[in-house]
Amino acid sequence: MKILKDAGSFIILTPEEELRAQLLRIEKAGRTCYQSEKKEITEETSKKFVRMLIKNGHESVLEHSNVTVQFTNVSRGFTHELVRHRLAAFSQESTRYVDYAKEGTGPDLENFQIKCIVPPHCDENRKVQLEDGRMMSISDMFNEYEKFYRALRKSGWAPQDARQVLPIGTKSQIVISANFREWRHIFEMRTQKAAHWEIRKVLCDLLETFQEIIPVVFDDFVEAGVDQDNLRYFEKHPLN
Ligand SMILES: Cc1cc2nc3c(=O)[nH]c(=O)nc-3n(C[C@H](O)[C@H](O)[C@H](O)COP(=O)(O)OP(=O)(O)OC[C@H]3O[C@@H](n4cnc5c(N)ncnc54)[C@H](O)[C@@H]3O)c2cc1C
Repeated sequence: MKILKDAGSFIILTPEEELRAQLLRIEKAGRTCYQSEKKEITEETSKKFVRMLIKNGHESVLEHSNVTVQFTNVSRGFTHELVRHRLAAFSQESTRYVDYAKEGTGPDLENFQIKCIVPPHCDENRKVQLEDGRMMSISDMFNEYEKFYRALRKSGWAPQDARQVLPIGTKSQIVISANFREWRHIFEMRTQKAAHWEIRKVLCDLLETFQEIIPVVFDDFVEAGVDQDNLRYFEKHPLN
């Protein structure tokens, strides 16, 4: 079993130039509403147009867009929260078809390794007392789960059956595609202080990257502080 402390990374699979080009398409679509399509559309005009849409709350026009992101080294808890966002497409690592016996140093069941995400603000080696008096750390507990999984696999259980004992902290990965409007909603829900630390940490970092590439779509989100574990949170502020 391997502990992942610095968990949660992402790759934006949509090329940067494609992200920027979508602003022009949004302006083209939006101008249909106002019958002002003859106006020349440039990078500069599209930025102004998109800002106007967001300021006036005409966010349906932002739906003429799409961004695909791959998240890696996130927990099943993270992915379970992400897939609650219904206006998106998902492809996720399967615990039915992925045989964790094949991870780690080789296909041998003796050598396989489950990876688990531990909160960065918790000590994975600090032992706590169980009701039966034993002392165990979260690392020890994950090791136990790995033993259970391995025992079931060795006795002939299929991965899709043995997975029942995998903890919610098990490492996963997921690809999501959504339009700008839905991304704005996901950021609003998942970068706020009340969101779970893992999805908040990863999505705060992703939001910042989006703000660098296409600021006009996301610059009304402002870093608002840190929580008790020194993890950031954002708030959405109305545009002037
Ligand atoms: C801090 C926090 C705590 C949470 N706690 C819990 C919890 O305890 N239990 C739990 O079950 N969930 C919980 N959730 C998940 C939450 O309830 C939502 O399922 C999740 O945030 C997705 O949000 P959404 O439905 O607004 O958005 P999406 O599914 O992303 O949809 C975006 C928007 O589209 C519209 N929309 C989508 N589908 C429909 C529809 N069928 N009809 C009408 N409008 C629609 C809505 O305006 C919606 O806001 C929590 C979320 C957060 C951020």
